[in-house]
Amino acid sequence: MTRQKTVKDYIRTIVDFPHEGILFRDVTTLFADPRGFRMAVDQLLAPYAGARIDKVAGLEARGFILGGAVAHQLSTGFVPIRKKGKLPGAVISEAYQLEYGEAVVEVHDDALQPGEKVLLVDDLLATGGTAEAGIKLIERLGGVVVGCAFVIDLPDLGGRKRLEALGMEVHALCA
Ligand code: 5GP
Repeated sequence: MTRQKTVKDYIRTIVDFPHEGILFRDVTTLFADPRGFRMAVDQLLAPYAGARIDKVAGLEARGFILGGAVAHQLSTGFVPIRKKGKLPGAVISEAYQLEYGEAVVEVHDDALQPGEKVLLVDDLLATGGTAEAGIKLIERLGGVVVGCAFVIDLPDLGGRKRLEALGMEVHALCA
């Protein structure tokens, strides 16, 4: 009997992208497959069945694809957390450290109402810097992060521990 494919089976690894020595996990092959994409979206939201979630927040850019589908399935609104300079309205910003330099993410300052419960979604958790900046933005708007859901967790890079140290519940489909 053939083994059922898992989410991980649909993800490919590209060697030396975007720099030499990096093994890039490419989720476009997961997104392109109707079974794979549905499986990923269903598994991302499974732990939150019955929980109150008012908004799904997605991290640019692949978190938009997953987060939009999760929000649709949960019948919630969707909030994009974008890279600096992309959102048209008034924003609040959070800077975070990269290996070389820093990055900034932003959210519209009216994207959440105080007390709203938010599920944060992205494709991959590495150091956790991007997700932590997203969490700070949500919390500065008065939102409450009920969970952080990722397709891939790279545990050696410490992101899960970093988010758990902030009191977050981390859910990932594969490593
Ligand atoms: P972190 O901030 O946790 O170090 O990095 C996570 C962010 O970088 C996520 O937004 C994720 O999309 C992106 N990222 C870093 N490495 C990879 C990778 O190998 N594959 C994909 N798909 N995204 C990555």
